[in-house]
Amino acid sequence: MKIAQSEKMFEQAAKVIPGGVNSPVRACRSVGCTPLFIERAEGATLYDVDGNSYVDFVCSWGPMILGHSHPQVVAAIRAAAGGGTSFGAPTPAEITLAEMVVEAVPSVEKVRFVNSGTEATMSAIRLARGVTGRKKVVKFDGCYHGHADSFLIKAGSGLLTLGIPGSPGVPEDIVKNTISLPYNDVNAVTQALDDEGHDVACVIIEPVAGNMGCVLPAPGFLAELRRLTAERGVLLIFDEVITGFRLAYGGAQELFGISPDLTCLGKIIGGGLPVGAYGGKAEIMDSIAPDGPVYQAGTLSGNPLAMAAGIATLRQLQQPGFYQELNDRATRCAERLREVAKRCGLPVQINGIGSMMTLFFCSDPVTDFTSAMRADTGLYAKHYRNMLSQGIYLAPSQFEVAFISAAHTPHDLEKLEKMTEWSFKNLADK
Ligand code: PMP
Repeated sequence: MKIAQSEKMFEQAAKVIPGGVNSPVRACRSVGCTPLFIERAEGATLYDVDGNSYVDFVCSWGPMILGHSHPQVVAAIRAAAGGGTSFGAPTPAEITLAEMVVEAVPSVEKVRFVNSGTEATMSAIRLARGVTGRKKVVKFDGCYHGHADSFLIKAGSGLLTLGIPGSPGVPEDIVKNTISLPYNDVNAVTQALDDEGHDVACVIIEPVAGNMGCVLPAPGFLAELRRLTAERGVLLIFDEVITGFRLAYGGAQELFGISPDLTCLGKIIGGGLPVGAYGGKAEIMDSIAPDGPVYQAGTLSGNPLAMAAGIATLRQLQQPGFYQELNDRATRCAERLREVAKRCGLPVQINGIGSMMTLFFCSDPVTDFTSAMRADTGLYAKHYRNMLSQGIYLAPSQFEVAFISAAHTPHDLEKLEKMTEWSFKNLADK
């Protein structure tokens, strides 16, 4: 595989962009590779600047559930762009997308659009603090809620990949208001809320974790969180930036039948353009300015191009049977990968739900941050390089999710399975 152009561009980028990238994991350091510079993408295929092509299982880290350059989404963006790119004033498209989100997500009665998942979670905890008058936030080890100060404590995603436990620049005064607990540990939550509940504004969680790899909530865990928080006047926030419109049209809350107080969205609702959103019960959302005193604003929020891309994407997701078909195909694929692992005798755990999955190189089940950390990242790096050499583009970190999109053909999934078998045999031989 020739990547001379990418190598040259990476060198050039590193002179003017820290690490040569605009988001850390893209630098591919933990897998020991040069990041590929992408020229274009269509369906499930990425094309790099050296003319190589790859079947893409990163899907822009989640948004591209329809695959790349979906004709209807691209047409909607083109049409919107022709009418102007930003007005700083309300537009009809914002109402349409807000109505679609409210109709889709069971617990959301009102929604405010922002520009990223980070903005959504940051604003949601401000709102929770504002309405409860309490300071503390409970989160879970290995979950990632964006890069706002309050969340950079035992966080997942790039911090986990790079082994950064927190971040310089986050004041101690802020850290002391975040309590991070083990995922799936009801006793730890009960204890923390018993001890500090009067001071806890909210519990925020990825209802299916995607940022320490894919980790499922244990049966009953989310229901217990709902019960424990409701009893103590603590708001429950579902960070559905990944799971929203991914696991089901109404997200994880529809799938598990749990109603959080606030929900954070991003990724899919922007159809690949920069969007986030937070929403919830009207009585809580009415505390946001200008109706209420909790301040949050954005020059580009509700951007017409982003709204158009979101609306066009959601319209596709509304097609009858969309999720059933996507989830069935992905589940069968995960099943076949488990068989491959068994045949090759490699200690591998495949965690998956719907069209999300992670292949962990370890022998025990992965149920939280501690068990995820037992995965062999060196073996993952080798597997990653093997797969890349065969035209399969996986996340450049053990602690991320592989996404299946509606654009992945049976042939793409067969190729994934075949190449996985080849890579596993290669790893087992060494
Ligand atoms: N929450 C979750 C669950 C996420 O996965 C992410 C990003 N991967 C974020 C929040 C932050 O979103 P963004 O990168 O758009 O700021």
